[in-house]
Amino acid sequence: MSKPRKPIVAANWKMFKTPSETADFFKTFLPVLGNMDGVDVVIAPPFPCLPAASEHAGKSIVRIAAQNMHPESSGAFTGEVSAIMLRELYVTYVIVGHSERRTLFGETDAFINRKVLTAHASNLKPILCIGETLEERDGGLVKEVLSRQLAAGLAGVSADDAIETVLAYEPVWAIGTGRTATSAQAQEAHAFIRSELEKMYDAPTARRMRIQYGGSVKPNNAAELSAQPDVDGFLVGGASLESGSFFEIIRAAVQASVEG
Ligand code: PEP
Repeated sequence: MSKPRKPIVAANWKMFKTPSETADFFKTFLPVLGNMDGVDVVIAPPFPCLPAASEHAGKSIVRIAAQNMHPESSGAFTGEVSAIMLRELYVTYVIVGHSERRTLFGETDAFINRKVLTAHASNLKPILCIGETLEERDGGLVKEVLSRQLAAGLAGVSADDAIETVLAYEPVWAIGTGRTATSAQAQEAHAFIRSELEKMYDAPTARRMRIQYGGSVKPNNAAELSAQPDVDGFLVGGASLESGSFFEIIRAAVQASVEG
């Protein structure tokens, strides 16, 4: 039996790679990816690399994401970019609420919600990141934090738009640390998120929404994580910078999806 949702594996390059390095990545990656199907593959390079990424992705299955955007369409917001600017660069997805944006740049749930709403209004699919810190996990607050971030992040989002929203469960203590959630911890959190979505929307909507896992995903742990019934792909930082390891992670997600 195959999984009910198509997996989605996204690369978050953070502040790594120049435009020429982006072009080089695609030249190596696309032949390796071949005509892989049954998966959505997304790459989120830094803003200056978006034109090169879009050009090289061309007609392949790779879709391009931005790592952030501002909720307003234009204005005096030095250093920011808007959804309409991204759309002109053939961007399809936008990562919002990444923990680095929340902690290093002070983004609040309310501000993140504005981005989610703007993304949908602009025909961009948001990848909404949620997840607890180590202190919150140790304090038994995982469910409380996830509920709060979900309710706030998806406030005002219709069921139709929710289906087009990708959630990324990223425990903050696992991002860039080499410390991955166990597959049981990931499944428990994902199942909880889906139960919250069912309460916020309804069972069919919750069943269709995709929930990625993110946090030190590598080729050697992707298969076990992918085998969990509520893990619908990955948001990958470090291991997405190298085409071979990113491809192995994609392959693990596809394999698990086929096997159910
Ligand atoms: C991320 O940046 O979203 C992430 C999950 O990073 P890493 O895979 O390096 O932990």
